Amino acid sequence: MTSTGLQSEFSRRSLGRRALSLLGAGAALPFYNEPALAQLSMIGPLPPDAVKINANENPLGPCAEAAEAIYSVVKKGGRYMYEETFSFSRTLAEQEGLKPNYVMPFPGSSDPLHRAVLAYTSPDKPFIMGDPGYEAGQRAAQFIGSKVIRVPLNSKFEHDVKAMVAASPNAGVIYICNPNNPTGTITPRADIEWVLANKPKGSILLLDEAYIHLSTETFGTDLVAKDRDLIVLRTFSKLYGMAGLRAGAAIGRPDLLAKLSSYGAGALPLTGMVGAAASLKSPNLVADRRKIIGDTRNDVFDFLHKHNARFVPSVSNKFMVQWDKPGGEMVKAFAAEKIFIGRVWPAWPNHARVSIGTPDEMAKFKTAYKKIFGV
Ligand code: PLP
Repeated sequence: MTSTGLQSEFSRRSLGRRALSLLGAGAALPFYNEPALAQLSMIGPLPPDAVKINANENPLGPCAEAAEAIYSVVKKGGRYMYEETFSFSRTLAEQEGLKPNYVMPFPGSSDPLHRAVLAYTSPDKPFIMGDPGYEAGQRAAQFIGSKVIRVPLNSKFEHDVKAMVAASPNAGVIYICNPNNPTGTITPRADIEWVLANKPKGSILLLDEAYIHLSTETFGTDLVAKDRDLIVLRTFSKLYGMAGLRAGAAIGRPDLLAKLSSYGAGALPLTGMVGAAASLKSPNLVADRRKIIGDTRNDVFDFLHKHNARFVPSVSNKFMVQWDKPGGEMVKAFAAEKIFIGRVWPAWPNHARVSIGTPDEMAKFKTAYKKIFGV
């Protein structure tokens, strides 16, 4: 065996061992169970020509300014450089029209999402979410024995806010993802304000805006500026293309954020912090990327309309496709064509989620779609 062969053999084995130990850990660690792993898009080694449109990632990656900032800071990575975290946090606060102490930086938004659920729900303070919805908060709630109440989306695929508020007089957290994951649909601003005006006393609205930059919807952070009872989650994993680099924030009244701080500790990744700050300062990034991803999405939707497909029109970087058989079989059929689409939600067993990739990747998706659906 050549040394390169040996190396790749070694890395294959150690990768296998690590995967096994991770799976072993899955038995014990609540956040790393099977659906969590699937959600972390660990779908195993893929063929080199695979199309990976399963995890709502952004194939554009970080913008040029972010990449440049990251390259130039790498050699200083022996230091914590907390000032870069403060600088990111201040920039975000300024852009959102908030005082600096209304922003708590994190390595992505999963971390503050979990913390908010741990801090604000308990066995007698349920976690209320839309169905189908993003499952991470539900798993955090289940870990501490909090009741989870899933409220079906309404016929327009919006959160049914009246039913969510009515679901429990003791709600701890009402979680709204806007635009929603997996449907990519918007819950109108008036409904979000209605939740804040009518939710049970002592509860918070957890407004997950992971995908908001892909839509033209107004951010919820002006409601934070008005000191309402909500925490908004920001991430740089989606439009900003930094999922692997890790940056995000919880945005809320300082007294609400204070309850999140003790569930973890440690410095944040310098690379993520400088990349996020540089992204925020890139003048046309959000508009340009919204258009690039939106154009690809609209092209796929034209194709789907033309072929009378059943799908949910989305304003985000993913959509739900329906067929007559279990969604899992659709996932397998696409995988056989080397197209790796997303997962299935129990509430909608005949749908599967598809993320928007590059135009080239979506062309391959369309070819596979025609073959699988026989159109
Ligand atoms: N919230 C929603 C709705 C998501 O879809 C995701 C990831 O897919 C996250 C939060 C967490 O993302 P991250 O931790 O990368 O910010």
